[in-house]
Amino acid sequence: MARYTGSVCRLCRREGTKLYLKGDRCYSDKCAISKRPSAPGQHGQSRRKASEYALQLREKQKARRIYGVMEQQFRNYFEIAERMKGVTGENLLQLLERRLDNVVYRLGFASSRAQARQFVLHGHITVDGKRVNIPSYLVDPGQVVAVAEKSASSMDFFKDLKEQGAQTVPAWLQVDYEKLEATVASLPAREDIDVPIEEHLIVELYSK
Ligand code: SF4
Repeated sequence: MARYTGSVCRLCRREGTKLYLKGDRCYSDKCAISKRPSAPGQHGQSRRKASEYALQLREKQKARRIYGVMEQQFRNYFEIAERMKGVTGENLLQLLERRLDNVVYRLGFASSRAQARQFVLHGHITVDGKRVNIPSYLVDPGQVVAVAEKSASSMDFFKDLKEQGAQTVPAWLQVDYEKLEATVASLPAREDIDVPIEEHLIVELYSK
């Protein structure tokens, strides 16, 4: 299945909430959902009461869109989450959070997950000193995620980042902005994952 290449703001309007897919624009008054919160399309203004199934489906789509994951890959994450110890929904979110592109975004090394994905694909990110160009790579506690030395010294985005210094990052990541390097201190707990997702609805959807 092809990756979605249309307007990402349309996806936010479809889900009826900000998915933060466009970096700085999402925090500005140019944000499409702030200006026009109705669903896209001719009948976007007139939403009917959603069925239980529709709510579950929307929640799954929202999670997929936030993390930029394709349908089959998302299903694979769910199956892994089901086999893990603990609560399936929380396991699912934890797996999504551990993706390298998400970690790069969470560290503020990119302004959106889409940009983080590009940085990873283009070899600007290392894990334990080695370039990793797989956005879905899952980080483990103890690993060190960094901007590749050459990229850190040559790209304006990273030079600016060094100058800006400290940003707020989730508790499971410890970052040194002078080195543009971070250690994965632990696995993310549910309270560390601030996404507007009710994961139990996704579990219900896949458990039918
Ligand atoms: Fe969504 Fe960001 Fe577009 Fe706003 S600017 S609608 S949050 S992608």
